[in-house]
Amino acid sequence: MKLQQICSFLETIAPLSYQEDYDNSGLITGSPEMEITGALISLDCLEPVLDEAIRLGCNLVISHHPIVFKGLKKFNKRTYVERVVMKAIKHDIALYAIHTNFDNVLNGVNARICEKLGVKDFTILSPKGGLLKKLVTFCPSAHADIVRNALFEAGAGSIGNYSECSYNTEGFGTFKGTENTNPFVGEKGVQHREAEVRIETIYPAVIERQLIVALLQAHPYEEVAYDLYPLTNSFETGSGMVGNLSEEMDELSFLQLLKERLNAKVVRHTALRGKRVRRVAVCGGSGSFLLQRAIASGADVFVTADFKYHEFFDADGKIIISDVGHFESEQFTQELLFEIITKKFPNFALHLTSIHTNPINYLI
Ligand SMILES: [Zn+2]
Repeated sequence: MKLQQICSFLETIAPLSYQEDYDNSGLITGSPEMEITGALISLDCLEPVLDEAIRLGCNLVISHHPIVFKGLKKFNKRTYVERVVMKAIKHDIALYAIHTNFDNVLNGVNARICEKLGVKDFTILSPKGGLLKKLVTFCPSAHADIVRNALFEAGAGSIGNYSECSYNTEGFGTFKGTENTNPFVGEKGVQHREAEVRIETIYPAVIERQLIVALLQAHPYEEVAYDLYPLTNSFETGSGMVGNLSEEMDELSFLQLLKERLNAKVVRHTALRGKRVRRVAVCGGSGSFLLQRAIASGADVFVTADFKYHEFFDADGKIIISDVGHFESEQFTQELLFEIITKKFPNFALHLTSIHTNPINYLI
């Protein structure tokens, strides 16, 4: 399988346009044309992970965290980042990162944390707008099915767990071609009236070019009429999740459950409030930027990582911040990626790393 195929698939799951500004998700080393012999999944892309890939005969490492975040100006093996990049290039290993773009999807790591904690009916805590657009096109009634299906095939019409969503209105269009035309229906120089369908569907802004190409190929007219609308909806992307436990519990029991389910050695948390826990907000990785959102969502507890000392004060008795550790909060990213890729490419040689990459140790 070509690297391009895997990258394209991963980018339908987590489009690169969903990543945060500071991020560097996507293909870091490797040529899209290269043939992939196997892939290794890891949270972090470190030297021992590359060695493992070499041992397993994998020439692709898919990691959550991008090994390169900032511009590299020198390659002298002085830092672990330089060493990893140099080794990857030397051994012809492709490195692919699926980071905040994967955090921001509905079925990403936050949904998985919710499942592990028994949090139900979860929704995105901080939805991201401006990523979706709407396409409206007008097409002769007899061709509506072909055009509609071509749009779906190109990636339009998905809302949550529904696909092939569109709205269709019957009407008629008029046109008159000049001498230089060759109209699909009617005659040039004469105003023609044709029964048409107005097809409306939404699409991720990032697929716009391919969608237009698909539309122009499927539509029978010489001049295809279509409108593109920006939307401010934020359906299914954004950071963090919030939902409800199926059964409320006392605070200490919840923190215990959290510790167990996330295999955390320690949970750092703010003062208990003497209330039952029902609503839970989560954000895998560094989630302190979502604290006010978590409070506003009515969550009793906010499960995340990387809170600094002074940031803990901002809980202010309104919520319990529970910091489980960065690695612990994102560990399920690996199994999630494994499941998603295996489902799509069942015969592909895919491995989960056996290296524990958490740089933090706890002396208990
Ligand atoms: Zn992270």
